Amino acid sequence: MYKELNPPVRILMGPGPSDAHPKTLQAQALPLIGHMDPAFVQVMNEVADLLREVFGTKNKLTLPMSGTGSAGMETLMVNLIEPGDKALICVHGLFGQRMADSAGRSGAEVTVVEAPWGEAIDPAKVAEAAAKDKFKLIGIVHAETSTGVKQPLEEIAKIAKDNGALFVVDCVTSIGGIPIEVDKVGIDAAFAGTQKCLSAPPGLAPATFNERAVDVIMNRKTKVQSWYLDLQMIAKYWGGTKRAYHHTAPISSIFALHAALGVIHQEGLENVFARHARLGKALQDGLEAMGMELLVKNPDHRLPDLTTVRIPEGIDDLAVRSRLLEDYSIEIGGGLGDLAGKIWRIGLMGHSCRERNVILVLGALETILSDLGYQCEKGAGLAAARKVLANK
Ligand SMILES: *Cc1c(COP(=O)(O)O)cnc(C)c1O
Repeated sequence: MYKELNPPVRILMGPGPSDAHPKTLQAQALPLIGHMDPAFVQVMNEVADLLREVFGTKNKLTLPMSGTGSAGMETLMVNLIEPGDKALICVHGLFGQRMADSAGRSGAEVTVVEAPWGEAIDPAKVAEAAAKDKFKLIGIVHAETSTGVKQPLEEIAKIAKDNGALFVVDCVTSIGGIPIEVDKVGIDAAFAGTQKCLSAPPGLAPATFNERAVDVIMNRKTKVQSWYLDLQMIAKYWGGTKRAYHHTAPISSIFALHAALGVIHQEGLENVFARHARLGKALQDGLEAMGMELLVKNPDHRLPDLTTVRIPEGIDDLAVRSRLLEDYSIEIGGGLGDLAGKIWRIGLMGHSCRERNVILVLGALETILSDLGYQCEKGAGLAAARKVLANK
């Protein structure tokens, strides 16, 4: 027998999706218009402009690709790489591994520079590797959602430039959470997702390409092996003077993205970043005051929007996460790969990044952990968080 959907109302504090802003959900429910309707072309232009703002770029080719963040990764790889090209990929977590995998599948000979999970990539190691060969591109993850590391980009951007390589960055968890500054940093191509700090539902992959990257794409010797992600064709729909049909744009998702970017625009980017920084610090101080250890040792390399904390000795990962979900309707994430069972990943992304949620998750964690026999000073976590929250 058919039953209508009635999903539970959750507080999404994992590594994504985050809580969708109500305005994005409303925008998704607007009536459809055609993907070639002049009114839709207007929406596309506005979305591209708003995306330029969050990416920190003037790049003409800035658009949301159809598909989740991973489709953005594949878009960059399949369009920028031709078989036999050499790619240098920085790997300091799961998403770096995926980028290396994707570059290889696109036909690149891949060289990897690594850092232990929980640390940032050392630019000196990138420079050393880059000097050994002629790389077409250097790829890196800005916000490693598997580890909570915020990767400084400036030095590596410069290394890429000095070596004549394109600098390609995964900004899925940084967009709308921390500054990206595509133009200032010298990023040649970047991709992102909608369901992390943009607070829209998953389904689109914002991407941006500067002129150097566009040159590479438009002057390929071989066809892009993916028909669906081929920017030579898609650019004509998103940017051309004559819009040419390629595939039907996911209209409702683009409406939602428009609303999501509007919410950020109205709050003001600087305010959005300040909110993430302040609340992330409050959560991190709170967890430490509860006697827990953050995975990322260097405070400068901690993401404010995704906190990774070690699970205390003797505490069962799933027992805690199940109770958070069942008793408080809070979702947090577990660890990936070698960190499975060892860390929790707590997101404060976009619309989920609210004072209410900081207090809620710290209070809930203290309650559950003390029930499980974990010893910590009562109320210490909340007190430490409130100290930061008081500092507006
Ligand atoms: C979530 C995430 C992705 C993948 O995005 P999907 O929307 O799940 O395809 C890629 N990179 C990073 C850093 C992410 O956090």
